[in-house]
Amino acid sequence: MAIRVIARIRPQHEKELDKEIIVSAIGNSSDSIHPTEITLPNPRNEKEIFTFQFSSVYDHSATQQQLFDNEVAPTIKHLFGGFDVTIFAYGSTGTGKTHTMRGGKSLAERGMIPRLLSGIFRRARKVTKESVVETRVKISLHYFEIYNEKVFDLFEAPEKRSLAGLPLRDNGNKAVVVGLTERPCESLKDFEHLYDQANLNRSTSATKLNAVSSRSHAILGIKLEMKTGDQTRISTASAIDLAGSEDNRRTENQKERMVESASINKSLFTLAKCVEAIGRQDVRIPYRESKMTRILNIGQNNSLTVMILNLAPVRTYHQDTLSSLNFANRTKKIEVREIENEPVFKGCSRAVPTFTGLSIQRQPLR
Ligand code: ADP
Ligand code: MG
Repeated sequence: MAIRVIARIRPQHEKELDKEIIVSAIGNSSDSIHPTEITLPNPRNEKEIFTFQFSSVYDHSATQQQLFDNEVAPTIKHLFGGFDVTIFAYGSTGTGKTHTMRGGKSLAERGMIPRLLSGIFRRARKVTKESVVETRVKISLHYFEIYNEKVFDLFEAPEKRSLAGLPLRDNGNKAVVVGLTERPCESLKDFEHLYDQANLNRSTSATKLNAVSSRSHAILGIKLEMKTGDQTRISTASAIDLAGSEDNRRTENQKERMVESASINKSLFTLAKCVEAIGRQDVRIPYRESKMTRILNIGQNNSLTVMILNLAPVRTYHQDTLSSLNFANRTKKIEVREIENEPVFKGCSRAVPTFTGLSIQRQPLR
């Protein structure tokens, strides 16, 4: 299995219309419709153009629907096949992570998360209706944030939270958060209510880069329990809106912000190191070095991972855009072992998902 990394370049804001666009998406000869490469100048030598290759690049004209249909919808059948799915948005503050994952209120602007839920409910209805053996599907949610390397339950009101955060407990290869609320979720309406309420609990604080910048990693877990006859299979889809990956030196952060940035960067830095180590097929993957990587455990368990690299097109973000592209570059050629979630009772075997990986190369051009 592989980590699939795709890039999305957001449109210019109205306020950015006078800013120079320096990030371009270009097609390649084998597929002239979908762009697959991103170019941007080397900040140290503008004559030099860097090219990064992806399996898919979405430019300013890409809709939420297109992104979902191409990249997220295909993961739903893997989830129902008993495999875990992880989808995350990576990028500096203001590049469109929350827009991509959560999205806007209108139907067209809905992000990957509500669309994923909608797709899961649709498939659950289909499976329940069409299975020969009686099948029941139960969906529940957990939602937490990691802020300053502490885990907080977003289904818990902020005044009830312990400042120390929730502890982690090792469970096989993966760490689980102890005491996390799990909410049953029976419809899209249920979901919207729970999700909107919980999002009010997210820690946000102003930074110089963005008035309400997200300084925490928000991790939504959608747990699927499928009971067919006497066999129960559990799989989880995790959707992660990562904290901004920007370099804190540029934001001229106050001391408190610097502490935050250091923690945020610790998790992101470890994520990058893990991804790199997986790519090299190292025996030791440094998962344990941050909370996020202990919990997410990409590459090591049976998770299918889609990373959406969010980018802003304008010069203001030049250095951060390059850092993000370099981060993605580390994820090339990641092979992940394919292991099914153990059914509670032994049952029939299933086909192994075919989810193609990709290679990303950085090629400095002259
Ligand atoms: P982040 O979560 O990475 O900090 P946001 O998702 O908050 O970034 O996006 C920053 C701003 O850009 C928001 O006003 C958002 O609505 C807008 N935006 C981001 N991506 C898009 C897009 N694809 N289309 C239109 N507006 C977008
Ligand atoms: Mg955000």
